[in-house]
Amino acid sequence: MKFNEGASLNTGQVSDRRGSGGGGGGGIGGLGSLGKAGGGLGLIIALVFAAIQLFGGGGGSTGGGSATGGLLNQAVDSGGTADSGELAAKCRTGADANTDDDCRAVAFINSIQDYWANALQQSGRTYPEATTVFYSGSTSTGCGTGQSGMGPFYCPADSQVYIDLSFWNDLKTQFKTNGGVFAQGYVLAHEYGHHIQATLGTSDRVKAGDKGPTSGTVRLELQADCYAGVWAKNATTTPGPDGQILISDITQQDITDALDTASKIGDDYIQTEIAGGPNQPDNYTHGTSAQRQKWFNTGYSSGQPASCDTFGASSLG
Ligand SMILES: [Zn+2]
Repeated sequence: MKFNEGASLNTGQVSDRRGSGGGGGGGIGGLGSLGKAGGGLGLIIALVFAAIQLFGGGGGSTGGGSATGGLLNQAVDSGGTADSGELAAKCRTGADANTDDDCRAVAFINSIQDYWANALQQSGRTYPEATTVFYSGSTSTGCGTGQSGMGPFYCPADSQVYIDLSFWNDLKTQFKTNGGVFAQGYVLAHEYGHHIQATLGTSDRVKAGDKGPTSGTVRLELQADCYAGVWAKNATTTPGPDGQILISDITQQDITDALDTASKIGDDYIQTEIAGGPNQPDNYTHGTSAQRQKWFNTGYSSGQPASCDTFGASSLG
């Protein structure tokens, strides 16, 4: 894939908290906070539940259901010292996104939001822009303490996406993906898919803690994968505010890379290949590897959000 060298980047869509004293020390990690974060939302969806099962053993951790805010008292960075000045200085154009990892993430975020702003406008709605927070280690969020071990997630309480960019490396080393960079676009687009679901009210159809192979949680996650595919289909034709199309080229290899990652974060793959345990469909929260690929492909084939009706689908694949 390539970014259009002359297209402008908007670092205003990112809040950079790295280097602001985050990096939560040991002790913050652990199951408690993961459990609370996961349980509280049903909606800190993300790859988060995958991470919970990976690091926290799953089980009750997804079933809490209570609100998360205020439950955690650990010291973490306040988030109040966010400074995106450095990003703004170095990430100006698509050329920067072609050569710098941080700028690539900014560019994906811009492209994803350009698409949804256009798509919602066409159906008479206004897209509420959502900031992505870059953090390191741990950070405070509207959904409790965010920790890098949770993987990227969307917090509906503050309408922000959170990511420790070291996750890209985790995908390769822990999830054994092939490391193709377009997978990063897929992951970010998946998180923004949750923002769309919150915006459209779809998230309200799912009970916190719901799980299992045909659960609302799985349907919501597969829909977010489908929305990521929809974005990928439209990314090379969607102009940004400067009239330029940010992504000039997406290859079949890029799609293969996204599908590779989708397959490595499926519930069955994580339960068996990563965690080394049995396949337990009753604990599914995101769908199988095959389903995650199928729904990304559904969105990518159609390019239409309406094709992503995982709640109406008689079979999830
Ligand atoms: Zn998700």
